[in-house]
Amino acid sequence: MIRQQLGRNVRTLATETSKIIKKTSVTSLLTPWCELQQDYYDSGILTRRTTLAMKQGTKTHAKIEKIYELPFESVIIEVPVLTFQDRRSTELLVTYGKLCAITQPSIAKSPTGLNTVCEVKLFGHLSGCDVTGIIDAVGFGQKSPQDPPKIYLRELKTMHGKLEVSQSQKAAARLQAMVYYKLFNGLADGSFSLPDFLTRQGLQLNKPLNPALLEAALESNVISSPSQIKNFGELAKLVQTAFSQFEGMVSEELCTEYINDAKTGVTYDKYIFDEEIISSFLSDRVQLFLKNREPRGVPASEAFKCRICPFSPRCPVTTSIAAGLPLPQLSEPPKLLFTQID
Ligand code: SF4
Repeated sequence: MIRQQLGRNVRTLATETSKIIKKTSVTSLLTPWCELQQDYYDSGILTRRTTLAMKQGTKTHAKIEKIYELPFESVIIEVPVLTFQDRRSTELLVTYGKLCAITQPSIAKSPTGLNTVCEVKLFGHLSGCDVTGIIDAVGFGQKSPQDPPKIYLRELKTMHGKLEVSQSQKAAARLQAMVYYKLFNGLADGSFSLPDFLTRQGLQLNKPLNPALLEAALESNVISSPSQIKNFGELAKLVQTAFSQFEGMVSEELCTEYINDAKTGVTYDKYIFDEEIISSFLSDRVQLFLKNREPRGVPASEAFKCRICPFSPRCPVTTSIAAGLPLPQLSEPPKLLFTQID
C-alpha cells in the first residue's frame, strides 16, 4: 500500500484496486478555523503549538459539559488498547452497545422524552473521502403519540460567557449535524459498507478479537457471550446490522444545543437536513483537498481570528485589511440557505 501525505488531517490511500480514497474526520472536513492557516500548517510554513489559551479553552469546555451533564446512557469498555485494530474494535463494541441500549424502555430519557445515548461513533464515505466522527446525542422515540418512532440527531456546543451564537457558528454546527445525518443514514440503509471501510483502513476482518476486550464487553453487558463474535469482520457486520434496524427512521429534523458556563440557559437551533446545501458545501471543500482551488483566508466578519494567528504578519489577508484593500479571496464560498424550524 502506498501512502502519501496530503496534509495533516487528510491522507490519500492507493488501495489494492488503485482506487484513490482519502480519509479524514468530520471536524477536519467541515470546520477549519481558517483554510489558509490550515494550509500554512500542512505545508510546514507554520508549526502547530498548543497555546495556554487553547489548553484553557479545552478545560473550560470540559467544565461546562460537566455542569450541564445530562443523564444520558453511556457504554464504557475499559481495556488497555495496544493496536489500531484494538482501538477500532473498542469503538465498534461501544457503538454496538449504544445502538442496542437506545431501544430499551429503561434507558435514560432526554427532556423531550426520547431515549437518548451520547457520543456515538459514525463512519461513512462522502465526496470521495472516508470520514469518521462522533455525534453528541442520538435520541430515539416518538415526539408525539401519532408520530412513528424515529432517530433524532443532536449536536452539543459549549460556550464561554454569554450565550450569543453568531450566524457563522450556527452555519458550521448545522453543516456538522447534516454530515452526521448522512453518515448515520448510509450505515442504516447499507449504502455504506462498514466491513469495506475497515478493509480500506488496512484492518484484517478475519483477525480474532482481543480476548481482554471481549471480556470487558461481556462485563459491560454489550455482548452475552465471548463466542458471540468470532473475529473483527463479524463485529463489523454486527454493528452494521444494529444500524440497519433504523433504516428509513432517521429524522430530517436536526438540532444544535448551545450551553454556557454562565448558567444563563440553553439555546436550541433547529433546522431541516438539506441535501443540496451539504452537497454544495462538501464539493467546495473537496475541491480544496483535490488542489483544484486555493485555500481561502477568513471573511471580513471573522477578521478577529487574524489577531491571534501566528501567520498574521506575513498573511496577504491581514496585509490587505491593513491597507484598506478588498480581501484577496480567490473564489467565493457557496451560499448556504438553511431551513430553520421554530
Ligand atoms: S492571518 Fe487570518 S486569514 Fe491569514 S492565515 Fe491567519 S487567520 Fe487566516
